[in-house]
Amino acid sequence: MKAIVKTEDRPGSYAVLDVPIPDPGPGDVLVEMKAMGLCYTDVSILNGQYRGRKPVPVPMVMGHEGAGVVAKIGEKVRSVNAGTLVGLEALSGCGVCHNCRNGDKNMCSNWDHLGITYDGTFAEYVRVPERLVHPLPAGVELADAAVLEPLSLVARSLEHLKPFVGESAAIIGPGSVGLLHLQALRAAGVSKTIVIGLDVDATRFEIAERLGATHVVNASRENPVETVMKITEGRGADMVIEAASSPKVWDYLLDLAAARGRISTFGLYPESSFNPLKLLRSGLTIYGDVAFLERHFMRAIEWLASGKVSGRALITKRFRLEDAGEAFGAFQARETVKCLFER
Ligand SMILES: [Zn+2]
Ligand SMILES: [Zn+2]
Repeated sequence: MKAIVKTEDRPGSYAVLDVPIPDPGPGDVLVEMKAMGLCYTDVSILNGQYRGRKPVPVPMVMGHEGAGVVAKIGEKVRSVNAGTLVGLEALSGCGVCHNCRNGDKNMCSNWDHLGITYDGTFAEYVRVPERLVHPLPAGVELADAAVLEPLSLVARSLEHLKPFVGESAAIIGPGSVGLLHLQALRAAGVSKTIVIGLDVDATRFEIAERLGATHVVNASRENPVETVMKITEGRGADMVIEAASSPKVWDYLLDLAAARGRISTFGLYPESSFNPLKLLRSGLTIYGDVAFLERHFMRAIEWLASGKVSGRALITKRFRLEDAGEAFGAFQARETVKCLFER
């Protein structure tokens, strides 16, 4: 089968190779992949910048987002059959450490993760443990289901933020996590949704407006704090979502928040500046978390099934597995929100 493989422990090394189709063990499911999302984590693995809890093995099939059709099941599998359309969760805990036993498999220090610690979704077939496979309800298209992983992060984030009807939200970073927040916050009744990006985000701003952002702010051209204050009558935003993948936003992030504001950060970088005095003065709460739990994935499936959140709306470019180079280039140039591999 065809697969995009990280070939060596060296920045930028990958190849589209012909590799054997994996055989499912007794508790495994073999899924024929149909729609696979490319995300920031994949590109940071490609570029050798990923700093996870375990080293990324090589060679390894890349990719951790995706949906497809069950091709074959192991003898102990009960929840799906060949032909079932499924979305794939990506993270498994060890099951026996304190955090796993406490229901926090995302905090497991010995976790396994599709496309990070073992062969992932950028292939014609992927082998996964049954517990990571979720059947899709009728009406959820595979291209929508390809965003279930980032949408689950948003479900987790909203569980922390607890949005209330009529509130305001500033979303920094109009990538997938940002624009999925936008849709989910609108569905939750948040009335002002302010999306902040840069000059390079022109395409993403258009998508944000189409998805109902009440304001878009280009921080390359205007001072985001002044603009957000103007929009919120000088109060600041009730919620701030940091989905920017850049530590520079911490220079102004806390200044965007209203008194008692809640901040959800995705902080995918090792260091940033941070002024605790601002935190104290405004009584802010910052939520950080990693990955998500089953309940967030199930909620994400419901969002898609209800039609309140669209994954497809973020996809403006579609690629074949053999066009991996083009897809990596388009993602890094921010020509789209979500790059999708399709089969
Ligand atoms: Zn992802
Ligand atoms: Zn564990």
